[in-house]
Amino acid sequence: MSDPARTEDLLAKAIDGGRLTPDEGLYLHDEADLLSLGAAAHEVRMRLHPERVVTYIVDRNVNYSNVCDSYCNFCSFYAAPGSKNGYVLSRAALRKKILETKALGGEQILMQGGTHPEWDVEWYADLIAYCKSFDIHVHALSSPEIHKIAQVSGISVRDTIARLHEAGLDSIPGGGAEVLTDYARDAISPLKCTTDQWLEVHREAHALGLRTTATMMLGHRERPIDRIQHLEFLRQTQDLAHENAGSTDAGFTAYISWLFQPTHVLKADEPKGGAEYLRTVALSRLYLQNVANMQSSWVTMGPKIGQMALWFGCNDMGSTMIEENVVSSAGVAYRMLSPEICSVIEAAGFRAQQRNFFYEPVDARFLDTPERMREVCGENPRNLALPAEAFDQVPATVSGRE
Ligand code: SF4
Repeated sequence: MSDPARTEDLLAKAIDGGRLTPDEGLYLHDEADLLSLGAAAHEVRMRLHPERVVTYIVDRNVNYSNVCDSYCNFCSFYAAPGSKNGYVLSRAALRKKILETKALGGEQILMQGGTHPEWDVEWYADLIAYCKSFDIHVHALSSPEIHKIAQVSGISVRDTIARLHEAGLDSIPGGGAEVLTDYARDAISPLKCTTDQWLEVHREAHALGLRTTATMMLGHRERPIDRIQHLEFLRQTQDLAHENAGSTDAGFTAYISWLFQPTHVLKADEPKGGAEYLRTVALSRLYLQNVANMQSSWVTMGPKIGQMALWFGCNDMGSTMIEENVVSSAGVAYRMLSPEICSVIEAAGFRAQQRNFFYEPVDARFLDTPERMREVCGENPRNLALPAEAFDQVPATVSGRE
């Protein structure tokens, strides 16, 4: 039951840097009003980042393959092994995408695919080494993929990450977390790596000195308690990374949450909207104070909610996403290039600053304009999210790669 005095006390505790307990987090999730949560989250954000700056990165999502045997029941992206809809990008296609990204001022590629039943660590080491040969930051392979690679290769998760790092893997994205409880995962992705396995990949990466990101996809089958448990697991994982490194410059660089987009394969029981997203963003900022950066998810929520999230705890607009395939395959994705992102940030009352993966400032060159994208890519930039003509369709088997 709502108790205004308790709400006020808990928000004041979080603003002062106090750690919310799971019970306190759940209470605020259920009872605090949206604007009070947002105001408190903004105070925490301004304590962590006192300068009135919102950062963003220019990068490209590269989905090297859609072949996957995890069959998550919310996913519109995957193709089953052996399916005629499966693809694996050829080296020529990868090269083109990376060179275009660099020509458009991109800092990194975010490269993810599915969980493949045959590809082992050396297959992936070749892929990573090829991408790294273009001297670009390779942020690649989420926990489900790494867990699968370790399983197929018959080696430990740590040895898998070490081999991929040696091949050129720079950092690991937080994809595949959805909501980190077995209750939530059993409901939407029962064959994908478990909560413990997802966390193990990040713990091992942190122990090897790699930075990673953390995510939450909310609004499907999870309960409020699952969201809180998810935040608690992330907070503990980050504590461990800081403790082991003896520094806060370790572990997750950022946390990103977004709203599940109902698809033809999984409808939402009760479709959630912008208010639910903003409430969870604000609560995450209050709960997860040991993760420095929080991204606004404008790709799924749109630029307007993306702007509002900057007043609900977020200090980063994420990526321009020169190309995006996974969310757009569900039919819901917005597109913005860096000049538009900067305008959106500035209209919300902040100064825009381009950054690299490590949140270090870099000079903005604004090379990803529609005109230049047409020049560099030879395509309508608004259509870059459409995969058909951009992908080399080849048999999705080990022998199918170049
Ligand atoms: S969400 Fe990822 S792991 Fe799940 S089916 Fe889709 S591609 Fe595979």
